[in-house]
Amino acid sequence: LPEYAFIGRSNVGKSSLINMLTNRKSLAKTSGRPGKTQLINHFLINKNWHLVDLPGYGYARVSKSSKKTFQKFITQYFSFRQQLVTAFVLVDIRHTPQPIDLEFMQWLGENGIPFSIIFTKADKLKPNAINNHIEAYKNILLETWEEMPNHFITSSSKNTGKEEVLHYIDNLNTNINSSSN
Ligand code: GDP
Repeated sequence: LPEYAFIGRSNVGKSSLINMLTNRKSLAKTSGRPGKTQLINHFLINKNWHLVDLPGYGYARVSKSSKKTFQKFITQYFSFRQQLVTAFVLVDIRHTPQPIDLEFMQWLGENGIPFSIIFTKADKLKPNAINNHIEAYKNILLETWEEMPNHFITSSSKNTGKEEVLHYIDNLNTNINSSSN
């Protein structure tokens, strides 16, 4: 089955987003404790695709060696996943573009892994500020890519952006099915 990976900095709102996308209140555990989601979780959605919950990266209070272990782990995941269609890189809309996120997107690009960006916690900013922050990302990303990667704006608190993400995935799944028939 096609697979879609969700990844981002710890505390970006990944668990909340996954709960929103899967209509469950407590499928993926949310917690205020950074770095708590350590292992890969798979969720079967609509019996036709897998949502893959990858561990959060970039939390401050871990040792260098555990950062290395983590990197190796993520690298291995991406190296061996034949079913992976797209990675969704989650970014907190409130922050200006962060080097760690940009480096990760760069790495995905260099390794030929398609990705989209999901801006989270949109309820925390006014529309104007949202546009400014996305524009800032665009300016930086266009130094590397020919176009702004596909992106979504979500709020798990306000339950917005969900249909856009799910439709996008459904469309990709449809294309995969029709090209393999
Ligand atoms: P994870 O560590 O990336 O899985 O992040 P969580 O889903 O556990 O969320 C981290 C914190 O951000 C929690 O306190 C959530 O309640 C909060 N949070 C997550 N999503 C949203 C959102 O869309 N809006 C707001 N206002 N807070 C959110």
